[in-house]
Amino acid sequence: MTEGATSPRDESEGRQIMQATLKDKVTFQGVGLHSGAPACLVMHPARPDHGIVFRRIDLTPAVDIPALWDHVTPSKLCTLLDNGHGVTLSTVEHVMAALAGTGIHNALITVDGPEIPILDGSAAPFVDAILDTGIARQTAPLRAIRVLRTVEVREGDAFARLSPADHLEIDFEIDFTDAAIGHQEKCLDMANGAFLRELADSRTFCRASDVEAMRRNGLALGGTYLNAVVVDGGRVLSPGGLRHADEAVRHKMLDATGDLALAGAPLLARYTGHRAGHAMTNRLLRALFADPTAWMWERCTPELEGRLPGAGVADYARPDLAAAFAAE
Ligand SMILES: [Zn+2]
Repeated sequence: MTEGATSPRDESEGRQIMQATLKDKVTFQGVGLHSGAPACLVMHPARPDHGIVFRRIDLTPAVDIPALWDHVTPSKLCTLLDNGHGVTLSTVEHVMAALAGTGIHNALITVDGPEIPILDGSAAPFVDAILDTGIARQTAPLRAIRVLRTVEVREGDAFARLSPADHLEIDFEIDFTDAAIGHQEKCLDMANGAFLRELADSRTFCRASDVEAMRRNGLALGGTYLNAVVVDGGRVLSPGGLRHADEAVRHKMLDATGDLALAGAPLLARYTGHRAGHAMTNRLLRALFADPTAWMWERCTPELEGRLPGAGVADYARPDLAAAFAAE
């Protein structure tokens, strides 16, 4: 074959969606939600096919933990990664959601302690900094995970389900006895920047009574009324109130975006969560990958452009558009 780029094979390869990383490193300073200890996180650009990897630099030698579903240890309050030898990193879900939502596939994330800084309790500070720094398209093609059959996990009346779809969709329902939260339901097509517009700024929430119980157990020491929405019955105790009337269900969708990103590649599937949490979403990924007939790798051809969570987001990295986005 001497036709080079005009051959059908080359043409189709040239039309694939490529992986992306950050244009430069970005630093975040904050405190751990549970430890209350100062925490510094730095996102570094990484080579193609590197994936997202966390590095605990407070240990000697430093310890790497891949951001993958099979490195998750069950934890009720957050998503906890474990390197398999007892080194852990907690609360990775919001930074994972920000990376997935902006279409970053490769990054090395250094942290100087066992907990990710909580910042404002949402993914917005991570998203804003990624967009300010810029997104660099790479030379390696991107692959997605297509769900072929419905997979479901249940616990009591809670469930989480993945079913076949042409793009990531998240459908979530919560039911809280506290009137300030109550019943909330939202369904979102995650394509084309929806994460940034609809979910990124929604904060963690909890009950005032849970905060007291957690503090007695030495948890939530870094929690304040500014980095979590605290409710007590029908009242929202956080100053300034809610960012969205249904901020709680939006935050659960943000968490699900981050937890699903631990699949290691964009998912082409519909996720349905009913009172589901971090541990249940991880059980769902384990159930999916335990069944080789339930999923397949799929090359991301231009037909998928615009259907992936980060597609189109690079446009927001232009300062004028970023300002327009911030003003929305
Ligand atoms: Zn969360």
